[in-house]
Amino acid sequence: MSLPIRMQSETVPVTTLAFDIDGVIADTMGLFIDIIDKYHGIKHVRKEDILVYQLDRCLDIDKQIINDAIERILDGGYDLILKPMNGARKVLRKICHFHSMLMVTARPHAGPIKIWLDQLLAGCPYRSRILAVGTHEAKAAVLKDAGITHFVEDRLDTCYLLDQEGIVPILFQQPWNRRSHPFMEVSGWNQLEALLSWT
Ligand SMILES: [Mg+2]
Repeated sequence: MSLPIRMQSETVPVTTLAFDIDGVIADTMGLFIDIIDKYHGIKHVRKEDILVYQLDRCLDIDKQIINDAIERILDGGYDLILKPMNGARKVLRKICHFHSMLMVTARPHAGPIKIWLDQLLAGCPYRSRILAVGTHEAKAAVLKDAGITHFVEDRLDTCYLLDQEGIVPILFQQPWNRRSHPFMEVSGWNQLEALLSWT
């Protein structure tokens, strides 16, 4: 079945759906850009410049600065706002009124992102859980163990890894994943919401 036809007929079951965080729920690249501006005076980088997932391969910036910014992101060493992706808050809060949710991140530890997510979903009756698995490769096994069938992800290489293990990846469009691929894809949270099946 061609991808456009598949997209029309396919639904995404809320009960067995899980999410990546950075680049899907959280606008982490936006935060990266704000960090290198505020702490390193680098003002020329735009999200559209980030055309591959590995930042040092697409940005003409000292690798030490990139590493410093990533460390700040992971440990919360910034006095800036991490914004949710457009529509993420609304859709996640809607899901959290019916089901608990699982987030699986390749971060080595949840750290400040757990507090951030708790604030995003404050007051929701069902709790969300974050598993920080440390590597992109570790995601599939953890998802399978948790009974997850579908996963929203912005890193295209991870989509291939998930697919090999029988998890259905849903690619969340970002400037760094604009290569052709065989997977379901959503342009944002509104499109994802339209695909959700609630039973
Ligand atoms: Mg991500």
